[in-house]
Amino acid sequence: MKIGILGGGQLGRMLALAGYPLGLRFRVFDPQPDAAAAGHVAELVTGRYEDRAALERFAAGLDVITYEFENVPAATLEYLAARVPVYPPPRALACSQDRLSEKTTFRKLDIPTAEFAPVDSLADLTSALHQVGLPAILKTRHGGYDGLGQASINSAADAETAYAALAGRPLVVESRVPFDREISVLAARSRSGETVVYPLVENWHERGVLIRSVAPAPNTTEDLRGRATRKIERLLHAFDYVGLLTLEMFEVRGDLWANELATRVHNSGHWSIDAGGTSQFENHLRAIVGWPLGDPRPRGTAAMLNLIGGLPPVTALLAMRGVRVHLYGKQPRPGRKLGHVTVCGVDEEVAAGLRVIEPLVAAARVLR
Ligand code: AMP
Repeated sequence: MKIGILGGGQLGRMLALAGYPLGLRFRVFDPQPDAAAAGHVAELVTGRYEDRAALERFAAGLDVITYEFENVPAATLEYLAARVPVYPPPRALACSQDRLSEKTTFRKLDIPTAEFAPVDSLADLTSALHQVGLPAILKTRHGGYDGLGQASINSAADAETAYAALAGRPLVVESRVPFDREISVLAARSRSGETVVYPLVENWHERGVLIRSVAPAPNTTEDLRGRATRKIERLLHAFDYVGLLTLEMFEVRGDLWANELATRVHNSGHWSIDAGGTSQFENHLRAIVGWPLGDPRPRGTAAMLNLIGGLPPVTALLAMRGVRVHLYGKQPRPGRKLGHVTVCGVDEEVAAGLRVIEPLVAAARVLR
């Protein structure tokens, strides 16, 4: 079986690394030969996403195509899907590429989300603020990630500056959610419809960028987990989904509000490589190939810290028990995810590990 992956970043790299023990082979497609973390571990085809000859070279002989990059143009997927099965379904990706259709889908499926309204002019924004209230966040509908393409609106006087910062692109404004914490839920659904759901993950962001995840999320009831599971199952069903799906949520006074979908493996699931169950990467591959899914349950607690912009002393981390280091082979640059570390064990071991590792990781971190 040969699998094609659109996007050659660390997610593609970790997909390939998870697939080799199962006898799978990989080819990745990325416009930038030097930026492709996955290019070190798989056959690489480079070309623009619009380059049909390059797409033909990529697709030749593949059994299934998937993607790890969320801004693959819809036309590229359509072109490839006419030749080779593409999972997750392109219409799910299209939905996640537009914050407006994403939020509309949440609402349609009865999944609570922040108040929102589309914005195409300053006048739209002014009237939308009456609807969504203050404080609010103005976001680009397309292409935003890691907190990019967002502007805060704390008072009506901020509206003009926020609009000027993002104008020229389709926008959406939403109320700022007074959340207690951020939670994600990951689930995989296979071609036969079999579904597995990972334990809830608690996530911390700094300036919009994920810095730490802990799984299973502490202080979590069966009831909360059940409600998150039903939300993601509704989405899986609505899209007739195949592959791994991530739903990012806010916990607000015990309620769960959806924030964002990722129709791919996700940074908040990296802990699953080391925690003893089947990793998100392996289950994504099993799902798209049509194999039975693996048990997602971890053996203990796992905490994952992203290494962003700079690396801590790696040998010091390697010397610690219960700590696993993953480096993506990328050149350091402010804001760039260069790797991650996972600490696994019983709660006390993880807490003790974090006390030592977190200061090292934070000292090396260079955000944009
Ligand atoms: P996003 O790109 O929408 O995932 O936003 C990145 C991060 O910004 C989120 O993980 C939150 O920490 C924060 N954020 C985004 N939207 C909201 C919101 N409506 N209310 C509060 N915080 C938000």
